[in-house]
Amino acid sequence: MDPMNFVIGGSFLTHIERHQTSPPSVVVIGGGISGIAAARALSNASFNVILLESRNRIGGRVHTDYSFGCPVDMGASWLHGVCNENSLAPLIRHLGLRLYRTSDDNSVLYDHDLESYSLFDKNGHQVPQQLVIEVGQIFERILKETVKIRDEHIDDMSILQAISIVLDRHPELRQEGLAYEVLQWYICRMEAWFAADVDTISLKNWDQEHVLSGGHGLMVQGYYPLINALAKDLDIRLNHRVTKIVQHSNKVIVTVADGTSFIANAAIITVPLGVLQANLIDFEPSLPEWKLSAISDIGVGNENKIALRFDTVFWPNVEVLGIVAQTSYACGYFLNLHKATGYPVLVYMVAGRFAYSIEKLSDEEAAKFAMSELKKMLPHATEPVDYLVSHWGTDPNTLGSYSCDLVGKPADLYERLRAPVDNLYFAGEATSLDHSGSVHGAYSSGILAAEECQRHLSVQHGFSDVLNLVLREEMTEVMVPFQISRI
Ligand SMILES: Cc1cc2nc3c(=O)[nH]c(=O)nc-3n(C[C@H](O)[C@H](O)[C@H](O)COP(=O)(O)OP(=O)(O)OC[C@H]3O[C@@H](n4cnc5c(N)ncnc54)[C@H](O)[C@@H]3O)c2cc1C
Repeated sequence: MDPMNFVIGGSFLTHIERHQTSPPSVVVIGGGISGIAAARALSNASFNVILLESRNRIGGRVHTDYSFGCPVDMGASWLHGVCNENSLAPLIRHLGLRLYRTSDDNSVLYDHDLESYSLFDKNGHQVPQQLVIEVGQIFERILKETVKIRDEHIDDMSILQAISIVLDRHPELRQEGLAYEVLQWYICRMEAWFAADVDTISLKNWDQEHVLSGGHGLMVQGYYPLINALAKDLDIRLNHRVTKIVQHSNKVIVTVADGTSFIANAAIITVPLGVLQANLIDFEPSLPEWKLSAISDIGVGNENKIALRFDTVFWPNVEVLGIVAQTSYACGYFLNLHKATGYPVLVYMVAGRFAYSIEKLSDEEAAKFAMSELKKMLPHATEPVDYLVSHWGTDPNTLGSYSCDLVGKPADLYERLRAPVDNLYFAGEATSLDHSGSVHGAYSSGILAAEECQRHLSVQHGFSDVLNLVLREEMTEVMVPFQISRI
């Protein structure tokens, strides 16, 4: 790549003199999967690309930690939709990455089969498996009934409100005692999917997502191999926090925290929605009103993980260990990584308000809290030898886990968030129309932004590339099947 296309320190003239003969230049902001995918695609198309990333690592909300001596994903860990239609399928198959399928259900609620749970009450008594399955089925019926409520009401409402209307109409679906606590646990799992509390999830939109087929597969080796493969040989500048973006006569001037500026023909902005909402980047001229309202109106949820590594495995050989309680807030669950990866690791997962509460604790306190929950189920649990705690809600590089639909918001928000503003292109999970909140949705959004940017700049610059724009074309040639365990 010719670094002279990006003029550092503001010598604008140098750039203007050169651009007639050089390939177009693009600054990609954010080194998560969407930014890396965009940079990869444009780089493959012979564009000059620099990627600016605020952290000292790439991956963003894909963050595989290796400090336990084994891969532990503190951000995304599932491939939602183990099928060839998944935009990540060619790459995953090509790299031979293993998947552990936790469910072959295509619904957004059950990324684990009902049989794979072990639930306990707060006194450490195991909930009979039959009850777990029965209440799971009742929960599905309740949710089906909420569709009728949606059809009857013009105005949106929360899924919690709809559930309470259903239970008023169908007293036979109401649960009591232990069964009630199990129902709360299913609501807790629903909150985990949306990273939001059930009183904020939109009835109109919660099931409108286009869920891919093939069920849900855990990335056994973690998500990083995929990130690293995509990022190979790209010009990535770590510790470059963008603070200002100026659009000036067909150019974009991007300034980072230390005052250095990068000039290019276009920019692709992939920072998380939480970062845009917090106005951590100054736009000049200011973004148009239709874009600003899309930024402010899409919800941002929160989800955190507390990973505990043990010397030995003392817990049952199930995928999920859950604790039931009187409210969904007080329910909890651990993902048993040992089942999928063979490593003695449990991951406690929390969402919504609870995820923010956890971030108020020190990491040590958070790990102690997770242990106290574990000991309610398994009183003889041994102490962990190590722990990791995520802080997605307060980390200034993210400010939330992923986008979610709030009650009563218009449906075109994602399209507006995605739409370019002249030579500023937007990508990232929250701009994905069909697969927001996911790794594959973020990846596709990066490719889409790169394609649009390439088309626009190629016309403007009379630049015709001869190379493939996208990696997927190269890789679909290689017909390696998915490597899946527990089919
Ligand atoms: C706890 C958790 C669990 C999840 N589980 C799953 C799952 O199992 N499966 C799934 O499909 N999805 C899951 N997701 C969602 C998935 O991780 C995201 O949708 C996806 O990784 C987002 O990618 P992105 O490129 O849009 O954003 P990001 O990965 O957040 O990338 C944006 C990048 O911008 C950088 N940045 C921020 N501010 C600046 C700035 N000012 N200047 C320069 N760079 C900046 C950030 O550091 C970051 O690297 C999960 C997310 C979380 C948090």
